[in-house]
Amino acid sequence: MIRFASRMELLKGSAIRELLALTAKPEIISFAGGMPAPELFPVEQMEKAANAVMEEMGQAAMQYSSTEGYVPLRQQIVDRMAAKNNIHTTVDNILVTSGSQQGLDYSGRVFLDKDDIVLIESPSYLGALNAFKTCEPRFIEVPTDDGGMIMEELEKILEKEDRVKMIYVIPDFQNPSSRTWSLERRQKFMEIINKYEIPVIEDNPYGELRFEGEAQPALKSLDTKGLVVYLGTFSKILAPGYRLGWVCADGEILDKYNFMAQAAALQASTISQMETAKWIEMYDLDAHVAKLVEVYGKRRDLMYNTMKEEFPPEVKFAKPTGGLFLWVELPEYMDAAVLAKEALKENVAYVPGEGFYPDGNTKNTFRMNYSNMPDDKIVEGVKRLAKVIKANMK
Ligand code: PMP
Repeated sequence: MIRFASRMELLKGSAIRELLALTAKPEIISFAGGMPAPELFPVEQMEKAANAVMEEMGQAAMQYSSTEGYVPLRQQIVDRMAAKNNIHTTVDNILVTSGSQQGLDYSGRVFLDKDDIVLIESPSYLGALNAFKTCEPRFIEVPTDDGGMIMEELEKILEKEDRVKMIYVIPDFQNPSSRTWSLERRQKFMEIINKYEIPVIEDNPYGELRFEGEAQPALKSLDTKGLVVYLGTFSKILAPGYRLGWVCADGEILDKYNFMAQAAALQASTISQMETAKWIEMYDLDAHVAKLVEVYGKRRDLMYNTMKEEFPPEVKFAKPTGGLFLWVELPEYMDAAVLAKEALKENVAYVPGEGFYPDGNTKNTFRMNYSNMPDDKIVEGVKRLAKVIKANMK
């Protein structure tokens, strides 16, 4: 018998993954993934950028390159964070990774020993929970409300627990809940973590996809003690296929991430970095993001308005002001995973909320994605789902 590492016990294929596999069928209207709209990828422009890279520096593009990443791309990242997130830093504080998912993996491995405590928002991003699980930590869920993590609850936990090694948060248009923290909460949070001096992983893939209101400053921009590790990504503002994200951190912390990157992956793809940097140089990322915001904002409106019309009043959901997701709360007696099977019979899919809670005890929530389906399918899919929900109400 083959004997695997104990951590593999924690990484069993989930019911959600099986469900996602089924949603690949063309007849299914899927609100399950978190994928950008492929019709908005700048394919022809990228072809020109890729050609330019090959003509100008083909050999370098196909060669190994530095662990930290391609300097022109890191400079573009620095400029973008200054403009969008009020984070003022230099290329020396940036490590390019293979998507922010790799930044999450490194975060676990840099900070967590077995049985250390990670604090997370309840619910939180499933992919981060899985990345951290390989380090066999204990998760403590910090209660949230419509404004994100509740700071009084965070303080209560920190007063009681002394093995908290890391706090993982998504303060902008969280996956799965789409909630965004107010400035007051961000300031309070920084006050608390400055007191306890605990490292924070701030994951921000969705911050630029804002439909309404003012952008809030990143936690990293309020960080005076170098405790915040900021994770960014090109996946949702450009294209996930290049697998490019970044870690922005200070001094000793970034050194550890660089050592981890050397050990784990050597570097992110040279050619992806060069093509992306060239595209940003040749074209207009701000204009591209503005287009995404326009299209996703309309899809958000359509999904939300159709849900308002079709879903029974007992089903609760808030209108997201950005990001890719609508988070739904069913009456407590309903189980969204059971309902998902019924929905699949009607050829419509969503992600049951269970996996977003490490203890898996919350059964009555689910996540809907609106970026990846055209208008007619959004309306039709929501109608089918409403039928399934109504048929299962007491
Ligand atoms: N963090 C969050 C909150 C996400 O939703 C995602 C993607 N769904 C990621 C990280 C990983 O994204 P990527 O690796 O493509 O940058």
